[in-house]
Amino acid sequence: MALAGLMGSASLSVSAHERPLGDGKIAATPKQGHLLACQTRFNPNAPGAARSGPWITGARYDPAEKPVVSGSVTWPSEIAITLEGSDRVIRANNLPNHPTGVFPIARSDEAFRYDRNPNRIRAQEIVLTLPAEPAMAASPSCVPMGMIGFALSGAAIYSAVDARGRDAPAYEMQDACQGHPQERGQYHYHDRSVCLDDTRGQPGGHSDLVGYALDGFGIFGLYGENGEALTNGDLDACHGHSHTVIWDGAAKAIYHYHLTDEYPYSIGCFRGTPVRSDLAGERPPPPHGRPPPRRGQRPPPPDR
Ligand SMILES: [Zn+2]
Ligand SMILES: [Zn+2]
Repeated sequence: MALAGLMGSASLSVSAHERPLGDGKIAATPKQGHLLACQTRFNPNAPGAARSGPWITGARYDPAEKPVVSGSVTWPSEIAITLEGSDRVIRANNLPNHPTGVFPIARSDEAFRYDRNPNRIRAQEIVLTLPAEPAMAASPSCVPMGMIGFALSGAAIYSAVDARGRDAPAYEMQDACQGHPQERGQYHYHDRSVCLDDTRGQPGGHSDLVGYALDGFGIFGLYGENGEALTNGDLDACHGHSHTVIWDGAAKAIYHYHLTDEYPYSIGCFRGTPVRSDLAGERPPPPHGRPPPRRGQRPPPPDR
């Protein structure tokens, strides 16, 4: 057929879902398409997906070819976001408002071959006190392991990397909503969850808010000012940009992050000043002693 002839064999062999692998894209200074990670040395034997599979080929991977943790478990999700003076307070139980896969991953699940995630999803007491009108910091700051933002779906948002410093969505087994639990049972995403409602009620078909980063700036969906799907090239080194959006009901020119399908997926660095996360750590060893809580934080709930 004429059309197939025009497209050529090369384009036909490339899946529309393929993504460049983010491995190694950790930078010491803010850099577009990279993660400014607070942790720069990673244990190659840290817990996580033990094997990679045929969905990773060379420097690319195809999420559509990767196994998905099966199941459809529903949860009593609770989330409330209130403006209290100059603060925005998020109170949640960290259970998502969408179904999840079955965790721990069952032996019978194909995903178990690659990642024996033994963790169970558990409610977490989330109390995040963020600035309601965040300001840019003098310079961007690094992104820690563990929670870096919180989604309106009730799930935590983690960075692009797993405990080994690899591109987490490429290696770790996630459910159909791109989520999974870590050691303490905290359910989280590492990339753009298809279960986040990416409505486009902003001017020009721009995505609506889907969550908040720990510096208080908003995280919006995939679509930009002209309704186009955004890529890293449209965003700064921290994976955001500034323009007018609807912010707490009024039009406001403000910095915000976007979720995209390109590494680092959510936040490359913080443009504001992040509060500390209670529940830091993607499958870390237990910390020896705990630092005192800082602004916005409560001590973590005891493990049960
Ligand atoms: Zn935008
Ligand atoms: Zn994870």
